[in-house]
Amino acid sequence: MEKLDSKEVKKRVQAYKDEMLTRLDKLVAINSVMGEAKENAPFGEKPLEALNVALDMLKEDGFETANVDNYAGYAQMGQGDEVIGVIGHLDVVPAKKSDGWDTDPFTMVEKDGTLYGRGVSDDKGAVVASMIAMKVIKDMGIPVNKRVRLIMGTNEENGSKCLEHYVEKEGHVDYGFTPDGDFPAIYGEKGILQGGYVSKKTNIIDIEGGTVANAVPGKVTVKVSAGSYSSEKLDKFFKENKIPYTVENNGDVDTIEVTGVAAHASTPTLGVNAISYLLVGLKNADFSDAFVDFYCTHFGLETNGAMMGADLKDEYGDLTLNCGVISMKDGVIEGTVDIRFPVTLSTKEVLDHMKDHMEDENGKVSFDTQVEPLFFAPDSALVSSLYEAYVDVTGDKENKPMVIGGGTYAKEINNTIAFGCAFPGYDYRIHNTNEWVKIDELLLQAEIYVHGIIKLLSI
Ligand SMILES: [Zn+2]
Repeated sequence: MEKLDSKEVKKRVQAYKDEMLTRLDKLVAINSVMGEAKENAPFGEKPLEALNVALDMLKEDGFETANVDNYAGYAQMGQGDEVIGVIGHLDVVPAKKSDGWDTDPFTMVEKDGTLYGRGVSDDKGAVVASMIAMKVIKDMGIPVNKRVRLIMGTNEENGSKCLEHYVEKEGHVDYGFTPDGDFPAIYGEKGILQGGYVSKKTNIIDIEGGTVANAVPGKVTVKVSAGSYSSEKLDKFFKENKIPYTVENNGDVDTIEVTGVAAHASTPTLGVNAISYLLVGLKNADFSDAFVDFYCTHFGLETNGAMMGADLKDEYGDLTLNCGVISMKDGVIEGTVDIRFPVTLSTKEVLDHMKDHMEDENGKVSFDTQVEPLFFAPDSALVSSLYEAYVDVTGDKENKPMVIGGGTYAKEINNTIAFGCAFPGYDYRIHNTNEWVKIDELLLQAEIYVHGIIKLLSI
């Protein structure tokens, strides 16, 4: 394949700047948060509206378009049996001005070259940048010896049922990327085991802590009988570990509140688990309890799964374990466990390591969500081609393709990795207030996607 004229690509992408902004403005204005399923609108009316608007844009561009049963859609060019996929999504997570936005989240606003609005980064911005990339490839008359498909889903934020349905109907792609992660590229996504533990007996009166399973809990409150533990030893333990806590006595009952530091479940060492410190603290303070024993022999303060028999690692990363939420009902304590395991292992291998630690007379652990990891070697054609495209356009050789603990769309469709849309070192406030992206970054994305698609065509 002849060498791609990078200057020409840049010039043509820049020329579409206004068109890109018009399109993104239209898509941001659609509040495409998942809604109630209706007939012919599996995720509600708004995600479907966003899909139809995007498909109309691409049809007008002259691409062949298809709506896959209102779950997903695609636009394509080129011929051949093989498919190169660019897979983005048009649904968004909820946003309200009262959450602390400076502007209306569903009105795209520009300030000094930066765009604000829900979805400008995740992932409507990336989809629009991909549209521009498709247009530039088409305009330049670059020979396309495979089919190049821009696939757009509408349910990424709530389980990716859209892509599951797409794959059922249209099959996997031969090579592809999802611009719904990070640059330079994500070649590995750890496997995931999610579930929980349940107590068999306990003297705890009540316990409540954490907010979501995929976060390190920043707070926990427990009620225990006054005098059932050594206040002195508890104080010593918390002080030694620099853990803020309070105790409130109310007759026979002490209410202890422990403060930790929240963090994402995939990076538990960045946080301080309030639940773990509380329970290990109680154990140290001679609080005699079957459940506390169970917790302290299965999880304790460790975040690497060692007490579960699963202190596993490979050259790409370590297993992480997080106990996120705890609660009590009818005398039974329940809590969540979230494990992210190394990319070269399987769910079966990890579960095998833990099999002797799943249950004893004091409690039980189980995992109802089991997701295999995603892994392409850094020197595989897929990863190296996309990384080269990134380096060619940005000149950045410092940041390298990476492994993450989270999961992206790439896990749902074969032969695909996450590539873009976030540039290294920035927090675009995705899923947060005041989500942003720079116009220049969207243009740069489009340029990188042109180069990426062309490289995938010649694998
Ligand atoms: Zn996304």
